[in-house]
Amino acid sequence: MVASAKPNPFRIRDHELDSNADRVPLRDLLSIARPTEPRLVAIRQAQVEALVRMVPVTLLGQFVAATLVAASLIGTIPAAQLLIWLGLALGLCVMRGLRAYRLRVDINYARRRPADAKAITWVITILAMLWLVPPFVWFGQVDLAEKVILFLVGMGLMSVGIVTLTTLPRAALNYVLLLGAGNLSMAIQLGNLTLLGLALLYGVTVIWITLTVARRFFAQVRSRYDLEERGELVSLLREFEASGSGGIWELDAKLGLTHMSEELAEKLGSSAARLVGRSVYALLDPQDQIARVSEGMRTLFHHLENGVPFRDLAVPASGSKTWWSLSGKPVHDALGAIIGWRGVGSDITDVRLSGSDAISAARRDPLTGLANRLLVREHLEEALLAQLDGQRACSLFVVDLDRFKLVNDTLGHAVGDKLLCEVARRLERSAGPTSYVGRLGGDEFAVVVVGEQSDDRLAAVARGIIVELSHTFTIGIARLHVGATIGIARGGIDGQAEEALMRAADLALYQAKAQGRGGFAYFVPEMYLRAENNRLLENDVRAALEDDCLSLSYQPIIDAASGVLVGREALLRWNHPVRGPIPPDQFIPIIEDAGLIHQIGDWVIREACREASGWDPSIRIAVNISAAQLSGSGLAETVLGALAATGLAPERLELEVTESIFLGDDLATLASLERLRALGARLVLDDFGKGYSSFGYLSRAQFAKIKIEQMFVRGAAEGERDCLAIVHAIIALARGLDIETTAEGVETEGQAAAMRALGCDELQGFHFGRPVPAGEFSGRIATIPSAAAPDPFSARAGPL
Ligand code: C2E
Ligand code: CA
Ligand code: CA
Repeated sequence: MVASAKPNPFRIRDHELDSNADRVPLRDLLSIARPTEPRLVAIRQAQVEALVRMVPVTLLGQFVAATLVAASLIGTIPAAQLLIWLGLALGLCVMRGLRAYRLRVDINYARRRPADAKAITWVITILAMLWLVPPFVWFGQVDLAEKVILFLVGMGLMSVGIVTLTTLPRAALNYVLLLGAGNLSMAIQLGNLTLLGLALLYGVTVIWITLTVARRFFAQVRSRYDLEERGELVSLLREFEASGSGGIWELDAKLGLTHMSEELAEKLGSSAARLVGRSVYALLDPQDQIARVSEGMRTLFHHLENGVPFRDLAVPASGSKTWWSLSGKPVHDALGAIIGWRGVGSDITDVRLSGSDAISAARRDPLTGLANRLLVREHLEEALLAQLDGQRACSLFVVDLDRFKLVNDTLGHAVGDKLLCEVARRLERSAGPTSYVGRLGGDEFAVVVVGEQSDDRLAAVARGIIVELSHTFTIGIARLHVGATIGIARGGIDGQAEEALMRAADLALYQAKAQGRGGFAYFVPEMYLRAENNRLLENDVRAALEDDCLSLSYQPIIDAASGVLVGREALLRWNHPVRGPIPPDQFIPIIEDAGLIHQIGDWVIREACREASGWDPSIRIAVNISAAQLSGSGLAETVLGALAATGLAPERLELEVTESIFLGDDLATLASLERLRALGARLVLDDFGKGYSSFGYLSRAQFAKIKIEQMFVRGAAEGERDCLAIVHAIIALARGLDIETTAEGVETEGQAAAMRALGCDELQGFHFGRPVPAGEFSGRIATIPSAAAPDPFSARAGPL
């Protein structure tokens, strides 16, 4: 339980938790102004509701009394006067009755126009004033018997008031005072001292009873409310597990503070009395700055504005480096409307970082002991607030490990875990004492770098981290080489809010990875535009899949020596309904990110096989496969299915992959390649020389063919020594390994001749034909020159 040995910081107005009517101040008792404090609102509602419930009795009493008086005065008092008086009294009664009825049966009406203490008090006062007419206007004109009747009715009506009106003491008091005045006047007019004494005594007694009963009712409702409140608070506190110092707060419906425990007020450097009445915004974010930076603060305000309960929301306090954890629930009235808020708050500045409880556990990465995403965000918010305050600037680095997956896959998670711990230590070391290091999850880390934001300094920090993480790690007997790629976002420049900066750093990291790992990139606003553009394209790509806007074009590949057509490469085409044709280089990465590459890639394979099955059997079909397609075993099944369905001979199918598939260093990739080869398909290493160009890759899988990048083809044809040497080496090595070579992007006869002279086996490029849709092959025959070959078309038939 919360309240035990240690003094409970959440003491709940114990002194008020009783139903002692003496403690009801007369001001609260008699006020009919609209209250704002939730407790008073609830009490007022109970008062009004009890009174409305008694309306039938009130009306019956008034009705009987008024009719009786009118009937007994017929003949004595002019009929017109009587009628007007009776009409007014009965009219008021009927109106009141109808409204009370509607309030009870129509909940929507009750919500729209709730019963209001002030209006009720007025109606009752007017009714009581009507009762002043008999004693003050008519009394002199009637005979003794009628006088007695009027006097008795006056006394009787006062007692009806006790029964029906006391829950709303202000109305009851007005009523008995006015009726009492009438009774006294009648006693005086009757000239009887005993009657006068009786009327006085009766009046005083009725007033006394009214106030006593009203007080008791008030106190009862209040203690019922407090008990409920205590129950709810106890449950809130239990959930909250108050570990530090803290207390209770209460807001009214307009989010003004109505109550706060002194402990909490002290933490805010003030006293409860001074803080009550201020709005929650003025209390928590007086400069309107924190919400701009802190997601937690925005969430808090959003919840308060929308009536959503919240728990353990951590928010930074203004001006100081304090953190609050807040939990709260709306308080509802009987009709379900929010009349205020009640909650608990505690200072978690220190426990957050060093505590041994749930609060700090929720902020630590259990593996490395670093701050986790939540605490990184809090550090970042703190740093951003300090920057806004004119103190030191801050920047966010998101650090992604390279090749971590390989370690995990090959050496197991235990080694992977140890590696992450070592990475954490090195990161802390290289980031320096003024920076905060945390782990965002997986192999992604964050560093909040405090201080100067110049490119030079940030680049130096980034390089320091990359160098530190590129040194060999020794875990047990394993010597591991990982590396790091970093995205950088600068506080204030690239974003003011914590999430904006996180997102910016993520986008920068994405860019850095795309540029090749082991480097870093700064965020630039275009990245947002690109990300947004990609998001739009992603939606369009999904639509394109459904609307058949994707198609394949085929580009001829010819035999270098004979000029004979030996194959065609299938290239994906997307004709966007608005933007027109979009190059595959642009949309394929989006397809991959959206996880659609399997679906689209499978379609490409099936469609290409179907098309090729109608060609001359000597012509191969080449299909491009991206790295993402190789994960999992689905690809081999698709290929098998496509071959079986179309009857295409497996050796006619060439699968082109680029070196990038080896970057993931995934064993599964190699296994996947091997499965495809086992099916009989030929593996082709595409774009060789473009990226990482390691001859080592050639030994990692059994390739049937290498495609030499256009860049080298062009360079070699122009006689550039480097290019010539590289192409020489590639062809020599390929021959040695019994691998064929294809020169890509051949645009001129000069390039074609150069490649033939260097000993390249096949040629492909605009010189021999551009990629065209399947139906348009024949029209392109003329573009294929017969230069080096006797007759490129004689030996082979079939559509071209
Ligand atoms: P790639 O596999 O290297 O395809 C050859 C690219 O070079 C094609 O561009 C082609 O139109 C272009 N090309 C051919 N001859 C010449 C030439 O003489 N000069 C010049 N300048 N360019 C030439 P495209 O169609 O824009 O495709 C670009 C890349 O998109 C392809 O490069 C390939 O990596 C990828 N891609 C295309 N279709 C698919 C597909 O179905 N799946 C996958 N995963 N990737 C594909
Ligand atoms: Ca290709
Ligand atoms: Ca290529």
